[in-house]
Amino acid sequence: MNGPEIHIEFAPGLGVFVPHARRSGITPVGTDGSSTLGHVVESLGVPLTEVGALVVDGHEVPFSHIPAAGESVRVDAVTRPQRVPGAPLRFLLDVHLGTLARRMRLLGIDTAYESTDIGDPALAARSAAERRVLLSRDRGLLRRRELWAGGFVYSTRPDDQLRDVLGRFAPELKPWTRCTACNGLLAKATKEQVADQLESGTERSYDVFAQCADCGRAYWKGAHHDRLETVVERALAEFGT
Ligand SMILES: [Zn+2]
Repeated sequence: MNGPEIHIEFAPGLGVFVPHARRSGITPVGTDGSSTLGHVVESLGVPLTEVGALVVDGHEVPFSHIPAAGESVRVDAVTRPQRVPGAPLRFLLDVHLGTLARRMRLLGIDTAYESTDIGDPALAARSAAERRVLLSRDRGLLRRRELWAGGFVYSTRPDDQLRDVLGRFAPELKPWTRCTACNGLLAKATKEQVADQLESGTERSYDVFAQCADCGRAYWKGAHHDRLETVVERALAEFGT
């Protein structure tokens, strides 16, 4: 572009989004004289959901700032833990994050997720309608203007994804209170209430049951419990209060 040239520097945490040559130090950027600084940063590959502050010549500016020639811009990453004011903290995960969704629900975090791909516009609209923080590894999705709030999920590994989200948003943890299948709240249930979902061995071996208030699914400390317990204990040890 032939407009004003500025100089830009990205925080180390944002290096993953920008071309290699811009990952360290200050580099020049040609602007068009009318685009906002937010747009310029986004066009270089960084989702604005990941930007904590834009600092021009030492002063923080809004995303709507129009850069002028010679300005020196520092792009900071979001601070952790990141506060999302305006609604109770709750999440919406895109179709690729099913394992993360189940683990977040296991920890009692309000996490909407659908295993069918409803498409980017519908996901963004749901984020806005329900005031949910949209989590995704899709930068295009995170650029949608309708989003209530969003966050890029940095890892492809569910263990790391969970630590990333817990460290970033510091949600309150209430393990074993939500249905991992549908996000509904669990209530204590008697053996009789859930009997139709139990194999005879399960019925003999267990006495403590819970049931999802929304989908009716029964829960007990069964075969997968040790693995789930490990997920819960690790999360509480590092992120519990
Ligand atoms: Zn359920």
